[in-house]
Amino acid sequence: MKNPLTLLLIFFGLSNLFSQARISRIEPPNWWVGMHEPTVQLLVHGQQIADLSPRIDYPGVRLERVIKVENPNYLFLDLHIGAAARAGTVSIRFFEKERPVETRNWELWQREPGSAQRRGFDNADVIYLITPDRFANGDLTNDQVEDMREGPNRQNPGGRHGGDIEGIRQHLKYLADMGFTALWPNPLLENNMDRYSYHGYAITDFYKIDPRFGSNESFRTLAKEANDKGLKIIMDMVVNHCGSRHWWMEDLPSADWLNTWEQYTETNHRKSVIQDPYAVEADRKLLYDGWFVTTMPDLNQRNPLMANYLTQNSIWWIEYAGLSGIRMDTYSYPDPGYMAEWSRRLMQEYPHFNIVGEEWNYNPAIVAYWQRGKVNPDGYQSHLPSLMDFPLQQALTHALTVKETGGRGWLALYEILGQDFQYADPFNLVIFPDNHDMPRFFAQVGEDVDLFKLGLTFVLTTRGIPQIYYGTEVLMTSPTERNDGLIRSDFPGGWAGDKADAFSGKGLTDKQLDARAFLKKLLRWRKTAAAVQTGKLAHFDPKDNVYVYFRYNETQRVMVILNKNARPHDLDLSRFAGMLQGITQGSNVLSGQTFSMSGKLALPVKGALVLELK
Ligand code: CA
Repeated sequence: MKNPLTLLLIFFGLSNLFSQARISRIEPPNWWVGMHEPTVQLLVHGQQIADLSPRIDYPGVRLERVIKVENPNYLFLDLHIGAAARAGTVSIRFFEKERPVETRNWELWQREPGSAQRRGFDNADVIYLITPDRFANGDLTNDQVEDMREGPNRQNPGGRHGGDIEGIRQHLKYLADMGFTALWPNPLLENNMDRYSYHGYAITDFYKIDPRFGSNESFRTLAKEANDKGLKIIMDMVVNHCGSRHWWMEDLPSADWLNTWEQYTETNHRKSVIQDPYAVEADRKLLYDGWFVTTMPDLNQRNPLMANYLTQNSIWWIEYAGLSGIRMDTYSYPDPGYMAEWSRRLMQEYPHFNIVGEEWNYNPAIVAYWQRGKVNPDGYQSHLPSLMDFPLQQALTHALTVKETGGRGWLALYEILGQDFQYADPFNLVIFPDNHDMPRFFAQVGEDVDLFKLGLTFVLTTRGIPQIYYGTEVLMTSPTERNDGLIRSDFPGGWAGDKADAFSGKGLTDKQLDARAFLKKLLRWRKTAAAVQTGKLAHFDPKDNVYVYFRYNETQRVMVILNKNARPHDLDLSRFAGMLQGITQGSNVLSGQTFSMSGKLALPVKGALVLELK
């Protein structure tokens, strides 16, 4: 050790070792050749890397711009991926003055054939919404993961219960057999929060599946296997906020990376200020820049680096996992200009894709504002194809549960559909009886199985793309006041040792088995019913507690009769003559029973008839 040369070697060895560790992260971790937008922006993070100059020598790839920010631990690199670029490993060499100090390999991948032309979910689909932590625990070894702050506790309604991607994968056959054609899992990305992390909306790494759910690779496998079984995957995304344990919270690129306030300031949730002609800017700022909750820092999408980061992240997941759709959380809370650009970029890259935005508002005029093709008085132009139809959800529960007097009840549903003139494309709305944020539909209708069936018949036969929350098929219920932990209860049979198993039917009550069989019948029939998927809708002014509508195209005609009468009721068919021309018979798709379509129709007490007409 006394030899000065040895000391020198040790010194250089150590410094080399030290410099190798300087760059901790490059995102996105890879990109693809042949994208419509040829530029990709890399976020590079590491100790004092702003001192380094990156160089790239790869055919077809040009380093266009190196951007430094306030924090010297970041560099942003704009790469132009030219048409001549081929898939392969790009070496990014980082120099300190003229001395190379670190080389990072970053990959360019080949796109899947037909990637740009992929078709998003559509009217032929019925979406099954899953809260992954609560559906099925297919892998016991990932319940407790080192480095993840929260462990399992199935006794705690707000704790992690252990459900995962493997649990979904194991039951794809069940879901496809039921007749569902698309899955929307609540967010699967890492939520390394101290507690209450199971719901997934406090993302701590936008490029990583939470290890308690699985891995990026297992998510991709799930998507592939689901696709093979006729199930599309819709990814739940959030660009409004991240989780307070996100890795960058320890070392923000710049002060304006987040929307910050002198004191903690919450959003006012007053989404109507966006359209309100008299609203003041201060109230708008509060909506956009206020935080959702203390544990969810509000992201500043007006920072162009943040904007790029989020948009590329969405595109990355579409390409990486082979998605058929995105559900975008809290659509009206981020900067609206950014959401217009986000949706434009995605739809430009994937012209036949579908994205549904969550605008939780019961006014169709407000929801319609955000849909592609809507001409807004303020000139706002969205490229978002679909929205969650909250107005219809509220009207449905109302229609089923209020007493039918003085034009209440069914009329609520009739009139809300009458507002469809406000939408650019009402048939592309996602319709649902409930979701993960509200009491279970069965609870909403007072656990009345007849009303439950009426409601589901409506959702599966009216216009729109139906979405059903997991467990609805076996009458999962909840308190009637919102209680998230109990709304998102464990699916029976998803855990070894469960008394009831909804997958096999073992241990279910007769009522549950009947509900499941009913839903399965309707779902499977819907898969064959082009008139319901893509046909027109005509509905009649509700009368005598009965709501009647038709779905029809050139080759198929379906009459849906929703009857709330608790006593036998004869429906006079003469009112519907305009839709029944040339029709003699109606066959109930639920029971196979055939009816003569003239004179009067004896309706079953409190129930639905779905008649295929001939
Ligand atoms: Ca697990």
